[in-house]
Amino acid sequence: MRVLVTGGAGYIGSVAATILIERGYEVSILDDLSTGHTELLTPGAKFINGSLLEKATVLSALEGVEAVIHFGGKSLVGESVQKPEIYWNTNVNGTRILLEAMREKGISKIVFSSTAATYGQPKSIPITEDSQTKPTNPYGASKLAVDYMLTSEAIAHNLGAISLRYFNVAGAYQAKSGWLTENHNPETHLIPNVLKATSDNPLKIFGADWPTEDKTCIRDYVHVIDLIDAHIMALDKLEPGKHEIINLGCGTGYSVKQVMDAAKAAVGHQIPSVIADRRAGDPAVLIADISKAKSFLGWSPTRDLQVMVFDTWQSQNASNK
Ligand code: UDP
Repeated sequence: MRVLVTGGAGYIGSVAATILIERGYEVSILDDLSTGHTELLTPGAKFINGSLLEKATVLSALEGVEAVIHFGGKSLVGESVQKPEIYWNTNVNGTRILLEAMREKGISKIVFSSTAATYGQPKSIPITEDSQTKPTNPYGASKLAVDYMLTSEAIAHNLGAISLRYFNVAGAYQAKSGWLTENHNPETHLIPNVLKATSDNPLKIFGADWPTEDKTCIRDYVHVIDLIDAHIMALDKLEPGKHEIINLGCGTGYSVKQVMDAAKAAVGHQIPSVIADRRAGDPAVLIADISKAKSFLGWSPTRDLQVMVFDTWQSQNASNK
């Protein structure tokens, strides 16, 4: 079976494309390389360099395809506040064009990369799929709009869809061609920043006055390999006319200080850090309820925080050589 991976030159999409090929799927990748990297492209995958906004390109990328895993889109919260129009265009309009092209081609299976940002500030923890969705930024709002789009497309046109709502994705994958890892510019994510911290450029801890046990923010981290396993399991669970929404995390929270301790164990020295102001829009605690992922997909995460930090550290060392 051939799968189209949109956004396959990005961090998560490249791990998906690689693992799909390793498991015997045929893979096409559609990516406009606006934030992706050619060195992350999977050998053996068919690459189409183009945008989700060009329908003719999307139609040609769908050639011979049976299912789509849709990662392509914009994912920076701060940028989405500054330039919301990009998020409504790429994430919402891009997906609308993709669904239109899929309908024309008679392709009715899609797994969508959604996000915990659709929930906004949670009223209670852990967050279930039935929790209130009230995004606090255009990024989360655009992903929520796509979730609604998929629900209506499933009902009206018999699409089989699953939205996977990621919490904090971390870790790296060592493919035969090299490490597939996070490489954002600027990097905003905690784990790569912890590992890059030096005494000249210490980690900024965004707030040490939160209502948590050690006063730093708590997040739910999930390894990118576990995350992709869930996508591949989701491909087998798609049913025409149904749209399911499923959280993906590890179901446990780790504080910024606990992440720093895990990094200390990996690198063998204390992580240089300074306390900085809280970052606008950060909730104190985000933890997923992953019981639906377990019951519906039969999925459970298997790699803990120490593995996520260690893999990221190894991948950073390899790319610095
Ligand atoms: N964080 C931090 N310093 C950094 C980056 C992140 O203290 O340099 C904190 C951030 O405030 C949040 C947690 O680490 O509580 C995870 O942030 P990240 O940006 O990795 O993911 P988010 O939860 O925002 O999607």
